[in-house]
Amino acid sequence: MKKEAAFWKKINDKKVQCSLCSHNCKINQGKGGICGVRKNENGTLFTLIYGSASSLASDPIEKKPLYHFYPGTYAFSMGSIGCNFKCTHCQNYSISTADASVTYLKEITPDQVVELAKQHNCQGVSYTYNEPTIWHEFSLDSAKSAKKAGLYTCYVTNGYISPEPLREISSYLDAMNIDVKAFNDVFYRKVCKSRLEPVLNTCELAKELGIHIELTYLVIPGYNDSLEEVNKFCKWIVEKLDNKTPVHFSRFHPDHNMINVSMTPMETLLKIYKVAKEAGVLFPFLGNVYHGEYENTYCSKCGNICIERKNYNINLEGLSNGKCSKCGNNLPILISKYIK
Ligand code: SF4
Repeated sequence: MKKEAAFWKKINDKKVQCSLCSHNCKINQGKGGICGVRKNENGTLFTLIYGSASSLASDPIEKKPLYHFYPGTYAFSMGSIGCNFKCTHCQNYSISTADASVTYLKEITPDQVVELAKQHNCQGVSYTYNEPTIWHEFSLDSAKSAKKAGLYTCYVTNGYISPEPLREISSYLDAMNIDVKAFNDVFYRKVCKSRLEPVLNTCELAKELGIHIELTYLVIPGYNDSLEEVNKFCKWIVEKLDNKTPVHFSRFHPDHNMINVSMTPMETLLKIYKVAKEAGVLFPFLGNVYHGEYENTYCSKCGNICIERKNYNINLEGLSNGKCSKCGNNLPILISKYIK
């Protein structure tokens, strides 16, 4: 649905500038921004996707992945179309590269999202599948309704949102899983057509704003898998965020325009897990590998399994009121009113 956009200004009679994300696109009359879902019509910037959903589903919160944020709950998950990144290896390219003329979009209101979440016995709402930043006008309204109804909210995002819209939504956003796609700007420029620094700034600002954050790093052989790069990334986390930040190192599968690169070897992931631990990251995880032991949360003091995970099934017996059931260590895991 078309609606006047937020975060834009006129440059002249024909040109506008959008400031929703760090691309800060300057857009001529009749044209769209990089994301493909914001258009300059007669000197006014419009979003073309207010309330337009491409995908709706009930997902375990572990699927986002968010491991230390109300484990065992379900998030009503929704996405639209478009993306402000152009990743060669995009795993959701059918919706991220779609334009607003596609016929499968379902128009939905913020109140309907709440109703659907409740019908599906979900404890929260997740904005995911495509980039939620570019859905800001709707995700903000929807998050406000969700919070009012007692649901939690979370973003699965590339972190390219500008500081002002992030500050605006932060009062209604409980958690973010932020993709850090590499720890080098060359990768960002070549593979994603974007830059690294704004993503790191978003991680720091989200933390400062009190949003629960977890990071995902998709390990692509030959692109971002050097142990030196991963070590720098982990040291940055410890220094600038918190050594308790959960970090998900995910296995790459060939997709979209990167089908000639092979799947990440398990050996590489194991080395990365070790590097992360040695750099001081307390809660690294390996994703897309289904080797239970690397998906578990271990007590950072005594090593007890506090949360055991197997294919989105979890066992919380190692936790007692948010503490390790063996040694009593306080764990930074949100676990309370939403738990079933
Ligand atoms: S949200 Fe879209 S139009 Fe706005 S700056 Fe980002 S890519 Fe450009």
